[in-house]
Amino acid sequence: MEGFAEASLGRLFVVRLPHGGDLLESIKGFAVERGVEAGVLWVIGAVRKASISFYDQAEKSYVKQSFEEPMEILACTGNIGRLKGETLVHAHITLAKRNGETVGGHLEEGTTIFSAEMFLLELKKVALNREYDETTGLNLFRL
Ligand code: ZN
Repeated sequence: MEGFAEASLGRLFVVRLPHGGDLLESIKGFAVERGVEAGVLWVIGAVRKASISFYDQAEKSYVKQSFEEPMEILACTGNIGRLKGETLVHAHITLAKRNGETVGGHLEEGTTIFSAEMFLLELKKVALNREYDETTGLNLFRL
């Protein structure tokens, strides 16, 4: 057991994210605006273009990739926590191209919304603070 926390359920938001907006920034903006400090989220919809990354475990760095084409958001799931006192959205996304082929990865800025429906569940009585982890090179939950 690496550590865990028990949370209570807070508010549940159903959100239509803005056409033409940046997906990651829009999620963060909504969370900040509504004072959501911890939460879990799900999004489906479509993007005009996408920017995602893959974490190279040996290099301990993110390798970015961009797709300049419309795609469906089959699944985008993530969480909202805090890093150095700032809101941090960590989300992963699976996208489908016109021919059904899928790509996916860690959601980056540069993903433009065509349409996006989000369910955001706020978590209470828990602090999802992140701290640097030497082993992985990632900012993981301090639990
Ligand atoms: Zn990630």
